[in-house]
Amino acid sequence: MQPMGHAYTKPTENDLEFLESVVGRANVSSNPAMMQSYLSRSVMGLESTTPDVVVKPKYVEEVRKILVHCSARKIAVSPISAGLSGGFACPLIKPAGVLLDMQRMDRIIEVDEDNRYVVIEPGVTAGGIWAYFQKYHPEWAPPIADGAPPAATIMGDAIERGFSLLTSSMGPQGECVQGMEVVVPRGDIIRTGTWALNGAKPYYRWGLGPEVFSCFMGSQGTMGVVTKAAIKIFPHCHHKTIIAWAMDNPYDMQDLTHQVSRKEFGIAHNCVMVQGGNWPLVQTRFPKDKVPAEYSFFEKVGVPPWWMNFEIWAQSQKEMDFVVSEIDRIAVEYKNGGKAKSPASIKKWELHPAQVGARLKKPNKIAIPYSLWEAGFLFITWYTPWRDCAEFAELYNKVLEKYDFPPVMWIASIERGRQAICMPIVCFDSSRPEQFEAVQAVNRETTEMFLPKGWVNYRPDPYIHAPMTYAMAGTYYKYLRLVKEMFDPNYIMHPGRLCLP
Ligand SMILES: Cc1cc2nc3c(=O)[nH]c(=O)nc-3n(C[C@H](O)[C@H](O)[C@H](O)COP(=O)(O)OP(=O)(O)OC[C@H]3O[C@@H](n4cnc5c(N)ncnc54)[C@H](O)[C@@H]3O)c2cc1C
Repeated sequence: MQPMGHAYTKPTENDLEFLESVVGRANVSSNPAMMQSYLSRSVMGLESTTPDVVVKPKYVEEVRKILVHCSARKIAVSPISAGLSGGFACPLIKPAGVLLDMQRMDRIIEVDEDNRYVVIEPGVTAGGIWAYFQKYHPEWAPPIADGAPPAATIMGDAIERGFSLLTSSMGPQGECVQGMEVVVPRGDIIRTGTWALNGAKPYYRWGLGPEVFSCFMGSQGTMGVVTKAAIKIFPHCHHKTIIAWAMDNPYDMQDLTHQVSRKEFGIAHNCVMVQGGNWPLVQTRFPKDKVPAEYSFFEKVGVPPWWMNFEIWAQSQKEMDFVVSEIDRIAVEYKNGGKAKSPASIKKWELHPAQVGARLKKPNKIAIPYSLWEAGFLFITWYTPWRDCAEFAELYNKVLEKYDFPPVMWIASIERGRQAICMPIVCFDSSRPEQFEAVQAVNRETTEMFLPKGWVNYRPDPYIHAPMTYAMAGTYYKYLRLVKEMFDPNYIMHPGRLCLP
């Protein structure tokens, strides 16, 4: 096993010359202003640092040459697709080394409507692939991230196992990946699933016995560089709507939604995105100096304290009407069934057509305004079993308020309410250093509370989540390191992420 604490080499002039010989001079930069611009993309990593050099490959073989060279020289390499992952996964921490910016590898290579997948390269953006499908394959929808900026990539979301516009029905984005092509520092190009069989199509994720695919999912760039992925596509239903139910507490939100989600066939499967939250979520979508601080204002304009939206896709109007009426029936049954915490507060939230239209538009931009509130924002996302999400919200919001942050909570169902993705949005003033410390205090306090409950972080950060998580899963971590050493014996890939090393 490698000793902890690796010595890394800072790229020298000779290394820059080598990198230029691989990708061309125009695609290598160590210009300080350019390096700073990569830092500002990574707004959400509090400890981010700038790269020493940015390299933009175009071909798989270029990636392979770069990794082999950097492995031999022990130069750190961190891949990004768009660098917008919105958590702690992406930003560089020291040693920075080479930032491999994959944006030039941006081909949509194949769309197979029969086997229902698309093969993409890392630089294909959500906006780009959505427009491409609208034009050339309007009957099919690629599973782009629901709230991410159009410039974020479908690859970044897939390998981070994020959530897409279909996650409540189809499962996390990782479930949508059929196969991957990965370059590892050992110098190999590995394909997974049926794709591993030379010439076969990536039609099935589980291919040749035990599947190495999972070693790269959620790996935050620590195992290798994914250069292609085959991602499922889904029928693009033309009958769509959104309905919402309102309540005054997270427990009724959780339990009402659970009742709908358990009716999987014919109801929950049609609910492609089931997501809700609390009223401060609306508040933070405006600049802080322009929005009233009190709930009474939002109450007047009809925003409930808590709510759950159900985005429904159906093949026909008849099917859609059925799903809507069933959700309404189940909600009323829940309200009157004696188990609701606050039955009087449970009512249908009649959405304005403009609200429905804004939510149905893809890629939507609903998440972008969070940055307006106080300039800094962090999604510190967790997974829980669905029926723990209300407790999660209650506990997290208490800690946010203790540190004077607004209690902003967003929650979505994964795979028909089997799990919840719980996303507190920590809005902080990035010009005040003491607020950075407060964000870290919130993060540490909640992590100490949540790990013993069995809740896990979406993109474990290197200083708090990952060390605390692996301290509770020693054998798992031991084998994770062995897997890492198999692909990346010199530990050059995205050092520090996931406690590797
Ligand atoms: C405002 C906002 C809203 C968002 N809303 C959503 C949402 O609705 N749903 C959602 O799931 N996400 C959301 N996100 C998160 C994120 O934008 C998406 O998940 C996005 O698709 C990530 O893609 P990316 O290219 O930016 O990934 P990156 O940030 O480039 O990469 C993510 C991670 O994968 C690694 N990586 C990147 N490319 C490669 C590669 N080719 N090989 C190996 N490792 C690699 C990186 O090192 C990093 O650790 C949001 C982000 C923002 C800023």
